Amino acid sequence: MKTEDIILKLAQLNESSRQLDIPEQERIEMLDAVTSYANQFISGLDTIKAFQEKEATALEITNKKRSLPALLDLYQKEVAETGINAASGKHLGYIPGGGIFTAALADFLAAVTNPYASVYFASPGAATVENEVINWLKSVFLFPKKSVGSLSSGGSVSTLIAFTAARDKHKVKNELIRKSVVYVSEQVHHSTQKALRIIGLEDVMIRYVPLDDRYRIKTDSLNELIEKDISEGLHPFLVVATAGTTDTGAIDPLDEIATIAHKHNIWFHVDAAYGGFFIMTSKKEMFKGIEKADSLIIDPHKGLFLPYGVGAVLIKDSAAVLHSNYYTANYMQDGANEEMIKSPANISPELTKHFRGLRVWLPLQIHGTEPFIACLEEKLLLVKYFRNKLAELGFCLGPEPDLSVSYFWYPFEIDTDKKNKRLIDEIHADGSVFLSSSIINKRFVIRIAILAFRTKKETIDEAVEMVKRCLEKVNQAD
Ligand SMILES: *Cc1c(COP(=O)(O)O)cnc(C)c1O
Repeated sequence: MKTEDIILKLAQLNESSRQLDIPEQERIEMLDAVTSYANQFISGLDTIKAFQEKEATALEITNKKRSLPALLDLYQKEVAETGINAASGKHLGYIPGGGIFTAALADFLAAVTNPYASVYFASPGAATVENEVINWLKSVFLFPKKSVGSLSSGGSVSTLIAFTAARDKHKVKNELIRKSVVYVSEQVHHSTQKALRIIGLEDVMIRYVPLDDRYRIKTDSLNELIEKDISEGLHPFLVVATAGTTDTGAIDPLDEIATIAHKHNIWFHVDAAYGGFFIMTSKKEMFKGIEKADSLIIDPHKGLFLPYGVGAVLIKDSAAVLHSNYYTANYMQDGANEEMIKSPANISPELTKHFRGLRVWLPLQIHGTEPFIACLEEKLLLVKYFRNKLAELGFCLGPEPDLSVSYFWYPFEIDTDKKNKRLIDEIHADGSVFLSSSIINKRFVIRIAILAFRTKKETIDEAVEMVKRCLEKVNQAD
């Protein structure tokens, strides 16, 4: 192609391609539209339902252009008003968090400025923000300065990173896989087994350690299982303790488990995805021993109330992590030097990733930690308040939880499980507050998970009213 033809063609293409770079006046209008949508959404949270059982049907991408205001309407109807409203304080199912506003601002800034946070050389500032968040987490969980960490998409990917380091440290490969043993709680989160499968350890033996009446690992049983396995020539290499089980809010006896694991030279992993940040509250003592973990996962999108998509992992043995994740390529040679550990990409399977650090860093800088701690303390009290109210209504309750997750069921005289299932169906149909269900000790139960930052005493009062209303419906249906 001749130069003048290229120039001509470029001018033609520019007519269309430059549309992606919005001029300032239009930017202002678009920001106004989004700002006013966001404000209406937040102001309306008190009055809208927590759950709406509706399908999304009109989100197909066609090649037809649509305006931003029209798309915001569509978003409201098809996304914001279908399923669980996770920004609402009335989300008391699974593990909620909410999504604080200052984190949304951080995401906006991260996307506009788009620094390459994965490699220190590419953006020393963004990489340092990520690393300072990790440093802060190390100080919260009393991990040594020379441990390493990564901000991942959530608990599941954090678990992958931690288990891969454990696998490589203990050289669990080839024939050794079938002889290797992992110890977990019966209440372990399913992402644990999933991670083992993904990293090629589907064939290891998994021992489910018996629990006490408050769903905590029985350490005597753990020790016996390990000693038996060793005496039979097996290869125990990983113990997973949970600091805040998803269904029962229990914290395993971390300090004792640490002692047992280290005595037998086993990697000690703590899943604190849900419960971790309660270490900053009056529950601190229960977390004793967490600092002895070889690896630890925590989910800021749960206990720090950030929007979904940010988890964290801390690992003591940096060599094990680098073994799994460090990689050099010729096209990256400009960035490769002794700064290896400063580049988040070397601690993670992700190379290019969202600049997640900013959504943790900015809120902590703006608010300080105090309101986060108050919010967590508040959740601990709210679960007690909810349980008291349910007991007054004649419900049976699970044991007093260590944290802010609990469960209950109504002691219907016949068909108890079936009718509690009907009760949760009524609760979902009502939708004013969202609760989820589970099977615990072979019993169908309804869970309460109080962790959203917008959940207040008034929310719990509303939840109690709803449960009462739904119970009457189930009783009437007989
Ligand atoms: C939520 C959770 C996970 C999984 O984390 P994701 O962020 O959903 O991937 C793992 N363990 C526990 C205890 C959890 O509560």
